[in-house]
Amino acid sequence: MAETGKRRISILGSTGSIGVNTLDVVNQLGGRDAFEVVAITGNTNIQLLAEQAKSCGAKLAVTADETHYAALKDALAGTDIETAAGREALIDAGGRDSDWVMAAIVGTAGLAPTLEAAKRGADIALANKECLVSAGDLFVKAVEEGGGQLIPVDSEHSAIFQSLEDDQHHAVERIVLTASGGPFRTWTREQMAGVTAEVARAHPNWSMGLKISISSASMFNKALEMIEAKHLFNLRPDQIEVIVHPQSVIHSMVGYTDGSVLAQLGCPDMRTAIGYALTYPDRPKLDVERLDFAKLARLDFEAPDEVRFPALRLARTALQRGGVQGAVMNAAEEIAFHAFCAGRIGFLSMADVAEQVMDAMQERGAAGTMDEVFAADDEARRRAGEIIARMEMAA
Ligand code: NAD
Ligand code: MG
Repeated sequence: MAETGKRRISILGSTGSIGVNTLDVVNQLGGRDAFEVVAITGNTNIQLLAEQAKSCGAKLAVTADETHYAALKDALAGTDIETAAGREALIDAGGRDSDWVMAAIVGTAGLAPTLEAAKRGADIALANKECLVSAGDLFVKAVEEGGGQLIPVDSEHSAIFQSLEDDQHHAVERIVLTASGGPFRTWTREQMAGVTAEVARAHPNWSMGLKISISSASMFNKALEMIEAKHLFNLRPDQIEVIVHPQSVIHSMVGYTDGSVLAQLGCPDMRTAIGYALTYPDRPKLDVERLDFAKLARLDFEAPDEVRFPALRLARTALQRGGVQGAVMNAAEEIAFHAFCAGRIGFLSMADVAEQVMDAMQERGAAGTMDEVFAADDEARRRAGEIIARMEMAA
């Protein structure tokens, strides 16, 4: 807490979908009267980053991309907002003294700055699931040793967190992650084979950044979330279920040993999970749409299809193999995602790339240090790049 009595917060990835929603929640809950914004970070959208910094009164604004530093400095000239650029500056932003940090950078790029915030004991509101998928228990340990709390923001994990009863972890039998099924829920593999990124990014229920939208279409997002859940809630692989629920109203559920299932429901709006993470253990008052059950009329469920959506099978494989398979799967899929968006490989090839890299690196044991995580991540990216180049030659 600042001397002013205001809560000191930082938002890593403030210009993204989660970042913009976070600032909206901050404004709804009192804005500059209630919060001191220590640092915000973005990448290429300098105009938005500068506007945000001015309107929330951030002390520090960082762009990840050094080539945009001059533009950021220009945009904030005449203000007393400090500016910086590059990877080290991002890590510094995470390390600046604040009480609460929203981790909303997309991809493995978010790991080092979030880790820095965790180590110094900030409460971490975790949207960046890649931190847990890649670094797993090492990340959890860093938060524990730092002394802060890890509060999930991913809607499914927030739902589970909200449905977990205090001191009843021993009575948890299973968790059920809901999945919308994405835009291709009813499509055949033949239909999916030819889609472009423009088609794949159109999520039926949620409005999100590009990466997570495409990963939702392939269900890689759910695969990452299975691994995220394992580390967040300390579960065995057989306790993690996925069910397709096209309306995205039940955000996820916890099943207990007495047969009870507790669920959290709401409209598909990330501000509920963000607000909960910001005011936990209290619930904030938020201006978001309320569920209208009469209008909703029904909730549907279907078993997921691991043949059409092999990502789910790969997540189970990664959970069973353990070691650095989470980091490997995540890194290979990130490279495959970029290749798909660039039109270099087809939609279905993303899972093929991830599977081949995972198989090639399946003997690697668990990482004992973050350097080993980053080394596995690097190697998986290199291997994925080679596989994609071979796919292009063969095409
Ligand atoms: P986004 O693409 O909209 O925003 C990403 C943010 O990261 C932006 O601020 C961008 O400037 C920054 N960024 C991009 N590349 C970077 C790099 N190389 N280095 C540093 N910063 C970089 O993404 P999003 O949809 O807001 O998702 C952010 C994270 O939250 C992801 O991990 C995603 O899986 C997770 N998440 C998002 C949602 C959602 O509704 N959008 C829901 C659950 C979880
Ligand atoms: Mg989610």
